[in-house]
Amino acid sequence: MPTDEQVYAYSTVMMGSPILLKLFEHNQALAAAVFGLIKRQEDRLTVNRQQSEVMSINHAAGLHPVAVSPPVFNLIQCAKAVSVAPGSCFNFAIGPLVKRWKIGFQGNSVPPVDELHSLLPLTDPQQVVLDEQQHTVWLKKAGMEIDLGAIAKGYIADLVRDALRREGIERALINLGGNVQTLGMPESEGEPGWAIGLKQPFAEADALIGVIHVCGKSVVTSGIYERYFWLDGRCYHHILDAKTGYPLDNELLSVTIISDNSIDGDIYTTLLYGMGVEKGLAYLAALPQIEAIFVTRDRQVICSSQHQFRFTLINHEYRIG
Ligand code: ADP
Ligand code: MG
Repeated sequence: MPTDEQVYAYSTVMMGSPILLKLFEHNQALAAAVFGLIKRQEDRLTVNRQQSEVMSINHAAGLHPVAVSPPVFNLIQCAKAVSVAPGSCFNFAIGPLVKRWKIGFQGNSVPPVDELHSLLPLTDPQQVVLDEQQHTVWLKKAGMEIDLGAIAKGYIADLVRDALRREGIERALINLGGNVQTLGMPESEGEPGWAIGLKQPFAEADALIGVIHVCGKSVVTSGIYERYFWLDGRCYHHILDAKTGYPLDNELLSVTIISDNSIDGDIYTTLLYGMGVEKGLAYLAALPQIEAIFVTRDRQVICSSQHQFRFTLINHEYRIG
């Protein structure tokens, strides 16, 4: 995409993901401040180390409530609300299953069914007790674990956007391993907006299905092809179903959400992945601010609507459904 101006890209790896910041000025100090912000949030929210605010809750499962900082409490409150909604497949109490499968962390075998079934009672989000006055979180049963992996990156991407705005930055892009948040847009001779690739599942890293153009919006994709393993012709991926203990299984390869806030994008990718295309489209009909692109196993690309973005198909093995 030809642009008239110089883009400065800063990259690092955090949260097990490549992180990319694009600015229109050379500003190493700002990039360092942004990466510092992301690191501080990761330190609070991670469950992939022994210590973090979330791990202090998990370590006290079955024992006692744990007080956390107000922002972490608010994020957990939000994650719980989404998790307990009727029919939701989003479940922030999914930790015991995530840890058992270890998908994306060298896990490449299917755990015994009895073991998975024994973990299901430990994934009930209603058993996470929140106290708004004390800002405490209590996992009622020993062995329960909160996992914010399906919401944290979106939350952090919005914090980065807000921090950049406070610095007077009007145009920038932050990509947290597939969670993209944008401010403004670049000057461009072609299609206006930031060009964000929609990846071709199970292909080389730079292979695309198409390109999404947005201005000042978030674009989040959750797919079964980022963290997975194949066994006996089946793809076992990292979005798990707390009803069965196994990866969610349906017609979808990926869901992309275009929205103002990346936290919504992160929540809805997971939520809509679980709904599938038909239910997902019906659900979104009442939410004009949230738009989705579904990619199905039979290579259809289905957009719920296109008010906040433009999608251009470039890979003709796929078709618009
Ligand atoms: P990613 O950006 O890593 O693809 P997603 O937003 O798709 O993340 O969320 C997947 C992550 O969320 C998993 O790696 C796991 O930590 C957690 N997770 C898995 N299944 C669920 C679920 N049903 N509900 C909520 N979180 C989940
Ligand atoms: Mg998500």
